[in-house]
Amino acid sequence: MNTDVLIVGAGFSGLRIAHQLKQNHVQATVVDARSRIGGRIHSIAAGHDDFAPGIDMGPSWFWPWQARMLALVKELKLEPQVFEQYSEGLSIAEYRTGRLERQSGIASMAGSLRINGGLRVLVEKLSHGLDPASILNNSSLSHATHTHDGISATVVQAGESLSIQAKRLVFAAPPRVIANTVTVTPPFAAADLALMHDTPTWMAGQAKFSATYSSPFWREQGLSGDGVSEIGPLGEIHDASSPTGAPYALFGFVGIPASARVNRGQEIKQAAVEQLVRMFGKSAKNPEQVFYKDWAEDDFTSTHQDRDGQRGHAHQTVDTSPMWDNRLFWAGSETASISTGDNGYLEGALAAADRAVRQLMSSSTE
Ligand SMILES: Cc1cc2nc3c(=O)[nH]c(=O)nc-3n(C[C@H](O)[C@H](O)[C@H](O)COP(=O)(O)OP(=O)(O)OC[C@H]3O[C@@H](n4cnc5c(N)ncnc54)[C@H](O)[C@@H]3O)c2cc1C
Repeated sequence: MNTDVLIVGAGFSGLRIAHQLKQNHVQATVVDARSRIGGRIHSIAAGHDDFAPGIDMGPSWFWPWQARMLALVKELKLEPQVFEQYSEGLSIAEYRTGRLERQSGIASMAGSLRINGGLRVLVEKLSHGLDPASILNNSSLSHATHTHDGISATVVQAGESLSIQAKRLVFAAPPRVIANTVTVTPPFAAADLALMHDTPTWMAGQAKFSATYSSPFWREQGLSGDGVSEIGPLGEIHDASSPTGAPYALFGFVGIPASARVNRGQEIKQAAVEQLVRMFGKSAKNPEQVFYKDWAEDDFTSTHQDRDGQRGHAHQTVDTSPMWDNRLFWAGSETASISTGDNGYLEGALAAADRAVRQLMSSSTE
């Protein structure tokens, strides 16, 4: 198979690159190891068909000062679907002693923005403009070689090896994941490889739990759905409802360290429902659906360093200059500029995509 630009990663950054290259009439193929597009953007249909509103098990929010996110929402004509995080009313704190306290003025995500239907709407819109045959899911890049006239890539599809010849290659994935899943010829310099391993992937060690309900019973009690707990298993809780009615939902970040969560999904889900009953009342007892996603167990987001080692936002990142005589480029949120503070966020995924497209369009391989 031949392509002009091979993009590794059908996350937000990789899809944005493919979308922009298409607008510039540059042919591209996107490969992704997962069976779905979106990467860390993962909105699960709350209901029994694929068109049900999505509950965001990856990112939920963007912010009014994020110029690229606002511009993309406008470009994709999604402005009517943007709404503010629900934060009216009191929040609840649960202390180690079991004491509950209702508090005002600490709605930590007030003013943040969400998309009706979940953030998957954004990646679906981006992909709609692309030729479906140009996105290969279940396709994991295992090796890339810099040849005299381009790139020779080995992609593993359902255990079979597929060879792709490309003029140029873009890594649109966390540097740590690339370092763990891809080998290259010539090999990366030891210092570059060390930097890739040292660049934390934002939120990669987290797990998220959501429960959906037919009514927003917490709002009816004057509660915002915001909560913090010293007991857990959820450390931080927010309203995750759709703005247009059911499903209403609460979600929380699991406060248990990644290594202590292994194989405990069922137990954690049950304990999370019990916690919601403690904090929000007995109406929380019978959710319509519960969802649990442990990102630390997902090898195409998380590595052992994200589970047990250095986490948080990167304080340094890989050198994002084109490599291999303008054949190899970097994207993905973790490669966005550290100085703007966008790296790791959705805004950073777009910033990195913009940079990669600028580099691709202005560089010559002749
Ligand atoms: C629980 C959670 C909550 C978050 N909350 C927020 C939030 O509220 N706001 C916010 O701005 N950000 C948030 N983030 C971060 C946000 O999700 C990311 O910034 C963004 O999705 C990154 O997009 P990306 O395309 O750079 O990378 P990814 O989404 O990680 O995409 C990379 C893709 O590359 C693929 N891949 C990797 N290696 C290979 C390989 N060898 N071969 C083929 N494919 C490969 C992966 O399968 C993946 O699909 C959150 C993240 C998580 C996990």
